[in-house]
Amino acid sequence: AKAAGRNTLRFFDPAMQALVAERTALEADLRHGLQRHELVVYYQRVVDAQRRTVGVEALVRWRHPQRGLVSPMDFIPIAEQTGLIIPLGQWVLEVACRQLAQWAESPATAMQSIAVNVSARQFRHPEFAQQVQALLRKTGANPQRLKLELTESLLLSDTQDAILKMTELQKVGVGFSLDDFGTGYSSLSYLKLLPLQQLKIDQSFVRDVLTDPNDAAIARTVLALGKSLGFGVVAEGVETEGQREFLLQNGCTLFQGYLFGRPCPVDELSLPDQPSKGE
Ligand code: C2E
Ligand code: CA
Ligand code: CA
Ligand code: CA
Repeated sequence: AKAAGRNTLRFFDPAMQALVAERTALEADLRHGLQRHELVVYYQRVVDAQRRTVGVEALVRWRHPQRGLVSPMDFIPIAEQTGLIIPLGQWVLEVACRQLAQWAESPATAMQSIAVNVSARQFRHPEFAQQVQALLRKTGANPQRLKLELTESLLLSDTQDAILKMTELQKVGVGFSLDDFGTGYSSLSYLKLLPLQQLKIDQSFVRDVLTDPNDAAIARTVLALGKSLGFGVVAEGVETEGQREFLLQNGCTLFQGYLFGRPCPVDELSLPDQPSKGE
């Protein structure tokens, strides 16, 4: 059976082998990229019903010297599997906290908040809550302005541990959003157990909200659920006025998407909003 195993390996699908080689190269590259400061944090605005910016989401990018701008979809999973997500995630958090401390110095930007994505492995780290608090102290950022975005699968895998960590951070003022809501194995009962402030409707439901009755029903349900449980609901991936209108009419008050601005480097964000023409 062992020999057969070897043979199987020898006749490994070449496409698969190329993929493995590619991943290994990317992993080594990422390790160096982190040390060489090739990673950069972009920000995308979140707006209210009046299109005023109420905060931003931090989205990491990798400025690779050969590959160009690499999407987090291509390296976050690798960072997760290799454990590189721990230093990477810490770094994103630190950049965001420094940004908050800087914004706090000007009344024009002091009210902005930053939402940071936290991956499962990062959150499960036993020291996660202490590390976040250490960063807040080190940078002087106001914890009330920091939001952490968690996913359903992360919360369901060890709900007790998650509640402990979230409660500890919530005590110092940090808020929590449930990201990609509706895509995981939602058990509605645990929503009440978790110290959450916000749900984010996944963009896969927003995309066809005007043409797919199922997506429209899901979006409406999430908005109603958020309202009855007292959570804010952010609709992600809003690209058209039609989508915004539908969501607004169904009670949505927070929006994020290309319609309001793409993720961009911090110096390209204009905060507070310039009054736009026609409004
Ligand atoms: P996410 O947290 O669901 O972030 C939203 C994604 O939707 C972002 O992709 C954003 O650029 C994209 N997006 C925003 N508006 C629109 C729109 O109107 N239309 C469309 N089609 N897309 C829109 P991005 O930046 O490529 O990030 C992908 C994922 O990578 C994120 O999904 C998040 O899960 C992960 N990620 C990004 N930064 C970090 C990070 O610092 N740490 C961790 N752990 N994960 C991160
Ligand atoms: Ca997110
Ligand atoms: Ca999301
Ligand atoms: Ca997502």
